[in-house]
Amino acid sequence: MVSPLKKSSERTLVGKTLANCVRSISFKHVVPADLQELKQALSGLSAEEILIAIAKRFGAGAVFSTSFGAEDQVLTQMIRSLTPTTGIFALDTGRHFEETYYTMAMTVSRYGPIDTFSPEAADIENLLKKKGPLSFYESVENRKECCFLRKVKPLQRALIGKSCWISGIRREQSPSRNSFDIAEWDEDHQLIKVYPLLEWTTEEIWNYIKEKEIPYNELHDRNFPSIGCAPCTRAIKPGEALRAGRWWWEQSDQECGLHVTTIRSLEKPANPS
Ligand code: SF4
Repeated sequence: MVSPLKKSSERTLVGKTLANCVRSISFKHVVPADLQELKQALSGLSAEEILIAIAKRFGAGAVFSTSFGAEDQVLTQMIRSLTPTTGIFALDTGRHFEETYYTMAMTVSRYGPIDTFSPEAADIENLLKKKGPLSFYESVENRKECCFLRKVKPLQRALIGKSCWISGIRREQSPSRNSFDIAEWDEDHQLIKVYPLLEWTTEEIWNYIKEKEIPYNELHDRNFPSIGCAPCTRAIKPGEALRAGRWWWEQSDQECGLHVTTIRSLEKPANPS
């Protein structure tokens, strides 16, 4: 793909009962060995049951990150109605679409306050001074630098003191996410990640949103199935992958660094020698 900086003419409740699943083990401080047992406990549970099980096990150590996309709106509805001890936070990169900020406002209005983490002012001032506002179009390295300063560093602050990170990742979103398990160990942040909607289809997400009349980002109605920062997201064309509109000018893995630990670990050989 050609960089967007080039001239436009060049651009082309089934399962176990909760009583059986939720044990009294404290997961406030987790280690990788806890993962297997947790996976077994969550196996066969519905998304709602998973959230309840996580809240009972981790208490305030569990937190959910939302980007106000369709999946995250489903999880916000479930968490605020079923597990109020689970925190919810968002990362404000400063480069979101106007529609995303409207969705955020509607979500706060309906579900209450959401912790929001922003980049360090000095980081952004230095980046803009050195490389200008569109450096991410110039190289993958520059793009990852911007994602690191605007997303990864604020995420690190958001996860301080947490032991379980809940995410709206679904298996069908991309080939790299297809291999995810219901729970993963996050080496970078030393915690467990859980994906309650991993097996949900796009149709199930939208049926739930309609049934509960959940506010959603209107960009979804304009062929934006995956929504990130405005300069780095475009609508997809018929037949394109769900995340094809993210960093579309790159030949990269269409990931921003938030979930790279999980992807990296899946790419390792099963029995590294
Ligand atoms: S998605 Fe684009 S604008 Fe947003 S943090 Fe990453 S490179 Fe920067």
